[in-house]
Amino acid sequence: FTIKMDDLLLQEELGKGQYGTVKKVSHQVTNVVMAMKEIRLELDETKLQQILMELDVLHKSTSEDIVEFYGAFFIESCVYYCMEYMDCGSLDKLYGDGVPEDVLAKIALSMVKGLKFLKDELSIIHRDVKPTNVLVNMKGQVKLCDFGVSGQLNKSLAKTNIGCQSYMAPERIRAVDTYTVSSDVWSLGLSLVEVAGGKYPYAYDNMFAQLRAIVEEEPPTLPDHYSEEARDFISACLHKEPSKRPTYAELLEHPFIQKYHDVDVDMESWATQALESRQK
Ligand code: ADP
Repeated sequence: FTIKMDDLLLQEELGKGQYGTVKKVSHQVTNVVMAMKEIRLELDETKLQQILMELDVLHKSTSEDIVEFYGAFFIESCVYYCMEYMDCGSLDKLYGDGVPEDVLAKIALSMVKGLKFLKDELSIIHRDVKPTNVLVNMKGQVKLCDFGVSGQLNKSLAKTNIGCQSYMAPERIRAVDTYTVSSDVWSLGLSLVEVAGGKYPYAYDNMFAQLRAIVEEEPPTLPDHYSEEARDFISACLHKEPSKRPTYAELLEHPFIQKYHDVDVDMESWATQALESRQK
């Protein structure tokens, strides 16, 4: 089925991103609660149609590690993107002072599986891996969102600015247009350090100092109380030389992931408690 604005009952605003607002909506035909992202673009009809066509591949293959896509439409020059509603919100608001190692391992596993799925099944690299783009629900599921499926949409968004915290790999700062799958591996590693330690690891008061540190300084590491396996996983992802970073297949085999493979981590309790402390 296709989704139309008329079928949606608008509820509260869930957040504001760089490119638009996300609202909770209820699809009255199916009774499914969704998250709808409004992306304002100054594009002609042909380009907007092209975006809708490109997003359509998301209907063909799905993964439990990716936020489900329900459909998109445009009105005037806004694209409305409807997706699975994740009731605990994004990871940046949930990690608090940092998460325990077993929870970190399960978050890492979901992120690696999600990124591998995007690459293997849809031939896309994410390009915007960061804690705000990792969503969690009350079941304790962790899923990626905001991946660049549509080339036309990427092109249109690229003109807008970059955020104030950079998850860009050193090679991207040094040279433009050198984005490869291993740049996502860097962003994955950096996001996990942030989630583990409870803060963005490059603390500088200006963008220039921050970018200089990413290029010139030693990469950040996990706090001392994490295991050798966990610390090794992170330092492998945060190798300054992109070609030395592991592939997703290698990361899935890594001792850090393997260590928790048969451990049943209670992600549901973690998510519920994280949401509670966030609301305080
Ligand atoms: P950004 O541009 O920073 O990546 P987004 O525009 O993707 O941010 O999202 C803004 C905020 O809206 C997120 O931080 C998150 O809290 C919320 N949000 C986005 N998508 C969903 C969703 N599918 N379910 C629940 N909340 C969401």
